[in-house]
Amino acid sequence: MRALVVEAPNKKWQLQDLPKPVPGPGQVLIRIHASGFCFTDIHQTHGSLPGPFPRTLGHEPVGTIEEVGPGVTIRKVGDRVGVPWAQGGCERCEWCLKGKQLFCANLIGTAASMSGGHADYMLAYAQAAMLLPEKLSFEQAAPIFCAGYTVYSGLKIAKPQPGDRVAVQGIGGLGHLAIQYAKASGFETIAISRSPDKDALIKSLGADHIVRDGAELDKKGGADVILATSNSSEAAVDAMNGLRPDGAFVVMGFDPEPMKISAGLMIMKRLRLLGSQQNNKEDLYEALQIAAAGKVKVITEAYKFEDVEKVYDRVERGQVRFRAVFINN
Ligand SMILES: [Zn+2]
Ligand SMILES: [Zn+2]
Repeated sequence: MRALVVEAPNKKWQLQDLPKPVPGPGQVLIRIHASGFCFTDIHQTHGSLPGPFPRTLGHEPVGTIEEVGPGVTIRKVGDRVGVPWAQGGCERCEWCLKGKQLFCANLIGTAASMSGGHADYMLAYAQAAMLLPEKLSFEQAAPIFCAGYTVYSGLKIAKPQPGDRVAVQGIGGLGHLAIQYAKASGFETIAISRSPDKDALIKSLGADHIVRDGAELDKKGGADVILATSNSSEAAVDAMNGLRPDGAFVVMGFDPEPMKISAGLMIMKRLRLLGSQQNNKEDLYEALQIAAAGKVKVITEAYKFEDVEKVYDRVERGQVRFRAVFINN
C-alpha cells in the first residue's frame, strides 16, 4: 500500500510502498477514502509532540472497513467509519476508569502510538471506529474528526446559556467550523478576524458580526464565550479584552509561545479560562450529526497523496482555506 511516511523529525514526507497492515485482536483494517491535514501534523513533523519515527501522520481518517481482526463483533466489513485522535487507554488507570481516556498516560493515539490516516489503509481499534452518518460524504466527514470535534467540544465545555453571545477568534481550519457550530446551536455569533479579505466569506458562514480585535469586540457589546482557535497566543490574549463579566475563554489553538494573561482582567470580570480538546464521544457524535444535517459545511481543498509537497507547504504557511484533505478514492 502507499503511505506518506515521516522518517525522522523535520524530514519531508515521503510517499512509500509499505506492506498492507493486518488487523490484530480487537482491530479493524480501514481502507482510507479521505484524510484531513491538521496543523498539528506540522507540530508532529517537527517532533514537538510525542510519537515514534518513522511514522505516518493523519488524525482525521475516514473510510470503509475492509477486514476485521479476531474477536471483533461490533464493526463489520463495509462499515463507513472515522477514527478520532484518542482510540482508548489502558482501561485500568483512574482516568480510563472514569471514561476519560484522553488523560491516560498510555493513550492509544491515532498518528501517535498507532499509524495515521495519510495512507491507503490504517488499523484502528474497533471501539474507536465511529460509524459515519449516511448522508455525510467522506470529504466532509474527515475534518470533523479533529477540527469539528475540537471546536464543538470547546463550545460545549464553556456551557453557554440561552441568549449568550459566542465569539470565535481566528478564522481558519478550526475557526470557520466554530462559527458554524455556534450559529447552528442558536447563539449570536461574532467573528474576530484581522483580515478584511475574509469578511464576505465569514458572513456566508453565518457570523452575525465581524470585529478586528478584543477592543472592538468590547465596544460592540462583548461576548460571553470566546473560542480561541488561532495559532497565535498574542492574538488570543488580545481577544480576551472583549469578554463580558463571567465570560469563558476557551483555548484550542496551540502556540508554543506562553499566553500573557492579565490577572486584573481575570479578577475584575471574574472570567473562566478553559483549555479544551476532544472531550468525549458524545461531542463527536453530535458534531457529525450537525454536519450531516447540512448545518455545518467544511470548506475543503482536496489533494492526492502525490500532491504532498504542495499541500504541506500551503498548510505550513497558513494558506489553506480552510481544511486540506487528502482524497483517496
Ligand atoms: Zn488535529
Ligand atoms: Zn489508562
